[in-house]
Amino acid sequence: MSWPGVLAAYAPYLPVTEKTPSLTLLEGNTPLVYASHLSESWQIRLFLKLEGLNPTGSFKDRGMVMAVAHAIEEGAQTLLCASTGNTSASAAAYAARAGLRAVVVIPEGKVALGKLAQAVLYGAEVFAIAGNFDKALALVRNQADQAGVAIVNSINPYRLEGQQTAAFEVVDALGEVPDVVALPVGNAGNITAYWKGFRAYLQAGKAQRLPRMLGFEAKGAAAIVQGTPIDDPQTVATAIRIGNPASWQGAVNAARESGGSIDAVDDDAILDAYRMLARTEGIFAEPASAAAIAGIRQALTTGQIRTGETVVAVLTGNGLKDPQTALETAQVEIQHLDVDPYHLSEALRRV
Ligand SMILES: *Cc1c(COP(=O)(O)O)cnc(C)c1O
Repeated sequence: MSWPGVLAAYAPYLPVTEKTPSLTLLEGNTPLVYASHLSESWQIRLFLKLEGLNPTGSFKDRGMVMAVAHAIEEGAQTLLCASTGNTSASAAAYAARAGLRAVVVIPEGKVALGKLAQAVLYGAEVFAIAGNFDKALALVRNQADQAGVAIVNSINPYRLEGQQTAAFEVVDALGEVPDVVALPVGNAGNITAYWKGFRAYLQAGKAQRLPRMLGFEAKGAAAIVQGTPIDDPQTVATAIRIGNPASWQGAVNAARESGGSIDAVDDDAILDAYRMLARTEGIFAEPASAAAIAGIRQALTTGQIRTGETVVAVLTGNGLKDPQTALETAQVEIQHLDVDPYHLSEALRRV
C-alpha cells in the first residue's frame, strides 16, 4: 500500500472532518532504524526514529500539515510563526503547497543555514529580530486576533494533534510499545504530543502499555529542569535554544505520569553524541536531535535506563540543516591532493 501522508493514514485519531482539505507532502512514515553498534555497546535495544526524513527535514511537518489543513478549513490566508528554523521551513513549504502566505519571525543569527535557505526558497517572508525565540513568539502571539492569520507555532493545538502520529508509527513499526522514548525538549510540544499519542493508542486498544518518557533540554536552556524561565538561553543546538517552553506543563506531565523525567545535557555531550551517531551508525542528525542520544548515554549511568530495555531515540531533524556546526565540530582538514596517481596511491597506503 502506498503511503498517503499522516492526515489520511491516521484520520480516525485526528481532528479531520469532511471539510478538512487533503493536504499532504507525504510526511510521516519515517524509518525506525535499529542502531546495532550503540545497542551492543550500551546493552540495550536502541531504535532511531529518523524524523529528518520528513519532506522538509524535521518532525515539524507532522503537526504543520494538520495545523495548515485546519487553518484552510477556517478560511485563513496567512500563516504566521516564530521559529528557531524548522517550524519556519515547514510552515513555508505547506503554505506554498496550499497557496497561502507565510510570515516567519526568527532570532537573528541563531537559525541554522539550511533552515533559512528553505524558508526563503519556499517563498516565506522572513523577519529577523534582535532577540531570542521567546521574544519572537511573544511578538507573534500578539497578532492572534488579526483576521485571516493563523499562528502555526506549537501553541496551536492542531500542531500537537498531528505530531502524535509519530508515536503511532513507533508502535506500528515495533509491533509493541518500547520501554523508553527519549527526545530533545525545546518548547516541549513534541514530548507532549508523543505522550498524548501513546495514551490515545492505549485507549484505542492498539497499545498494551505506556513507555517512560525521557526528555532532554540543553544545559544552557534548561528552564524546566531548573524550574524557572531563562532570559538568555544558550546552546549550540539552536532548535532547542528556548528559555520559556510553551508546552512546559505538558512536558512535566509526560515525565511524571510515565515514570520518566526531564533532564539536561551540556553542549559537549550533545556534540559528542552528534559525531558519534554519524561515525558509528552512519546517521547524520542535527545537534538538537543528538541531545536524545547524549541523554540516553547519561540515563544509562544514572539507572534511568536499564540493561536489555527497548529504547527509541527520536532524531528530530536532519543533519544537513546545519552544515556549519558539522564542519566546525568535525575539525577535519580537507587535504590537498595533486592530480597525480602516485599521490592518491600514497594516501591509500597510509593508515
Ligand atoms: C522543534 C525541534 C525540537 C524541539 O521540539 P519541541 O517540540 O519544541 O520540544 C527539537 N529538535 C528539532 C530538530 C526541532 O526542529
